[in-house]
Amino acid sequence: MGHVDGGQPAASLAQRSVAAVWHPCTQMRRAATVLPLAIVRGAGPWLFDDAGQRYFDTSSSWWVNLFGHADARINAALKDQLDTLPHVMLAGCTHAPAVELAERLSSLTGGVLGHCFFASDGASAVEIALKMSFHYWRNRGRPAKQEFVCLRQGYHGETLGALAVTDVAVFRDAYAPLLMRSHQVMSPDARQAAPGESALEVALRAAAQLQTLLAARHDHIAAIILEPLVQGATGMAMYDPAYLRAVRALCDQYEVHLIADEIAVGCGRTGTFFAFEQASLPDEPRIWPDLVCLSKGISGGYLPLSLVLSRNHIYDAFLDDDVARGFLHSHSYTGNALACRAALAVLDRFEQDQVLRNNRQQAATLSAALAPLQSDARIEHWRHIGMIWAFDVREAFAGPRFAERFHLAGRAHELLIRPIGRTVYLMPAYVLNDELAHWLADRVIATLNDVLSQSPSDADRAPEPPTA
Ligand SMILES: *Cc1c(COP(=O)(O)O)cnc(C)c1O
Repeated sequence: MGHVDGGQPAASLAQRSVAAVWHPCTQMRRAATVLPLAIVRGAGPWLFDDAGQRYFDTSSSWWVNLFGHADARINAALKDQLDTLPHVMLAGCTHAPAVELAERLSSLTGGVLGHCFFASDGASAVEIALKMSFHYWRNRGRPAKQEFVCLRQGYHGETLGALAVTDVAVFRDAYAPLLMRSHQVMSPDARQAAPGESALEVALRAAAQLQTLLAARHDHIAAIILEPLVQGATGMAMYDPAYLRAVRALCDQYEVHLIADEIAVGCGRTGTFFAFEQASLPDEPRIWPDLVCLSKGISGGYLPLSLVLSRNHIYDAFLDDDVARGFLHSHSYTGNALACRAALAVLDRFEQDQVLRNNRQQAATLSAALAPLQSDARIEHWRHIGMIWAFDVREAFAGPRFAERFHLAGRAHELLIRPIGRTVYLMPAYVLNDELAHWLADRVIATLNDVLSQSPSDADRAPEPPTA
């Protein structure tokens, strides 16, 4: 940290940041005390701050990074694209990265979701899917179908439309008067199981509640939106895939669109490229949603990119001589060539590196290394799927400001980790090996032990962030 001539210490990058940058998802008054890490470099799963400290990025920077930071192959693809065509508008023009990406994603669905609409962030993709569904029914002569169903504990982003189908009080309540009304139905979250009840039974109970709503209201309902298999942002709630099968059947029966928000769970995170794939039974025809939203991992954590895949019959409903019956939604950077090129490099990795198979091996190693937690009396609801691990610290042990204290204790153990409430989770990039997996498990357990051994008075005196 340098000094200016007057002898005043120069402000650190973190201090300048909280003065000038309005950080997301942050109470800025608190940010002046718990300063952000000033990251100057990334390599693989590691981030390096301006004091030279390294941190393992346990959440892949809000779940976007798939193959590590500054990955050589994605870098090379982007450098090539940068020198060729960084961006061109996508109305009246097109370019190879957008076309190839749309074609390759379609083929990953066996051509069932054959049309790709591009946007930039996840919330925009959700807005687009909601608008498409509503407009589809209008074009089909069913204008009364204008309501949406979402799940308790669901998260779909924070623009006004996406927030209207999101169930996070702290994000939502301040804006409640601005939001369209949606129907909220029971989450299939397996943690709700009554004594003796299985995850499957919870899923079927949740599906039965959805059926009650659809039976009464389907003439007015356009779509249901859900996160397949894992409700991420509200605390990594996992559920039985039977729920997805049941919802698919109900949507067919009641003529309601099924929107799969795969923004967090797509791109291999749950063990299949699309989480929804796990809804199909081995001996039966594959089932698919009507609309799929992708973002986060699709560009490998490099550039903002999101997209909506739609089934052919939805797309067909917009074909007309009347311009206004088309889907006119647009935004400036739609289909950005650099972002699409990054996504193609991501898809190349899936094809060339047997990513899903390697992840299964990596996951088995990390699960084994984390096994002591499964019988730890201080935690409950140990859960894992694909490349997501989560557990809840019991309320009696967590203490005040648990998430912040865990985050700060994690920094001292070279972890960048941000629990959601009492839920600690890991969503590492797909770059683990045996050594890293054991290191990571040791550090998570050490962090947990540190935090849970702090006395309440220690908790009140929050540790100084190491970058201060
Ligand atoms: C992150 C997320 C979004 C919103 O994406 P942004 O790019 O943050 O707007 C929507 N849905 C799910 C399931 C998400 O995890």
